[in-house]
Amino acid sequence: MRTVAVIGGGPAGMMAAISAAREGADVTLYEKNPKLGKKLFITGKGRCNLTNGCDVSEFFDNVVTNSKFLYSAIYSFTNVDTMAFFEGHGLKLKEERGQRIFPTSDRSSDVIKTLEKALKDAGVRVVLNREIKSVNELNEDAIIIATGGLSYQSTGSTGDGYVFAEAIGHEIVKPQPSLVPIRLKEPYVKQLEGLSLRNISIKITNWKGDELYSDFGEMLFTSRGVSGPVILSASGVAGRYINTKGDCTLHIDLKPALNEEQLDDRILRDFEGARNRDFRNSLDKLLPTKLIPVIVNLSGIDPFKKVNEITRQERESLVKLLKDFCFEINKTEGFEQAVVTSGGVSVKNINPSTMESKLQKNIYFAGEVIDVDAFTGGFNIQIALSTGFLAGQSAAKEE
Ligand SMILES: Cc1cc2nc3c(=O)[nH]c(=O)nc-3n(C[C@H](O)[C@H](O)[C@H](O)COP(=O)(O)OP(=O)(O)OC[C@H]3O[C@@H](n4cnc5c(N)ncnc54)[C@H](O)[C@@H]3O)c2cc1C
Repeated sequence: MRTVAVIGGGPAGMMAAISAAREGADVTLYEKNPKLGKKLFITGKGRCNLTNGCDVSEFFDNVVTNSKFLYSAIYSFTNVDTMAFFEGHGLKLKEERGQRIFPTSDRSSDVIKTLEKALKDAGVRVVLNREIKSVNELNEDAIIIATGGLSYQSTGSTGDGYVFAEAIGHEIVKPQPSLVPIRLKEPYVKQLEGLSLRNISIKITNWKGDELYSDFGEMLFTSRGVSGPVILSASGVAGRYINTKGDCTLHIDLKPALNEEQLDDRILRDFEGARNRDFRNSLDKLLPTKLIPVIVNLSGIDPFKKVNEITRQERESLVKLLKDFCFEINKTEGFEQAVVTSGGVSVKNINPSTMESKLQKNIYFAGEVIDVDAFTGGFNIQIALSTGFLAGQSAAKEE
């Protein structure tokens, strides 16, 4: 019987072990923590957004890095297969906004329990508290490296797989935090801490003004920058640009549904109803309270000026500010706050139809250790499950 070792008990490793065992292999799963799925436990704020209910073809639009490499893996175990797998093992699922799939119980621990049961049913030997130091210490016929990336290292993902892969000649694309908050240079950001904005659009530009990224949705201010869905999605592009090329700027359009003329009309209407108020007290219908003092200050308009004395030019500059509220990006936060790691074992060194190394027979990769990453929405766990499934299936087969 072919023996398979899986290093790492995250979603990729667990699924790899299940699929290899179901193919008839004798499988051992090694995990350095005292329990499986430590990172999985904290996903989706403890609720685990385990996949996305989108059409499979749309899945690839949500993959940021190396989507083509993932074709075989995703089609070998699709998001629909994931839902069938969990429901088949008795875990009820529900779909939320953005087609995000969660367990109905809202408990990530139920996802882990389901995987543990499937491991047991498939006959996988699980060895906990065992940190693999080198692939050479394993005697199995095939080895699947599913050690994860570098983010939230307290969960056990400390980049060990990169060391294993590099030692046997694989190229490692420099790991970088992704889906991570962004730090801004402007000191008044602190004043905005806790403010969340909905229905805004953002743009990231480089120092020449060229657009690098744009999006529409929700964001929030933190003590030293910004976070929330549109920011996390933009962070990979911004981080890579800052690290390799230079400065970039975040532009927020606070009123994307209105063009400048429409916004000016809207402000005029608000001003009509508040003719004798000070400017600083005239924006409460237009903006959230926390934002008003900052906008008033940046507008250059005297805060005590009566609304009926505000000139057309002053209004124009206010409109421009609301349509293009700009911040200099300092840097992205580090791995300790990153949802995923971008970078990892180069896909050039991995066969996409099997997940086997092109450099070393019987070595396979699965999950975040590979240079693939996606947006939020359940896509990253699905990538872990799909690549794990394919690696397990391939590793179980005699060459
Ligand atoms: C806060 C947070 C929230 C997230 N929420 C979501 C979400 O809702 N939906 C989503 O799709 N994605 C989410 N993600 C991303 C998702 O968790 C990861 O993409 C996914 O866990 C990657 O799976 P993996 O199996 O490749 O790696 P991991 O889950 O990191 O698992 C790797 C395992 O390998 C073990 N290991 C490492 N080295 C060794 C070694 N030398 N010997 C033995 N064991 C070892 C580690 O202890 C770890 O258990 C979130 C991430 C974070 C940090």
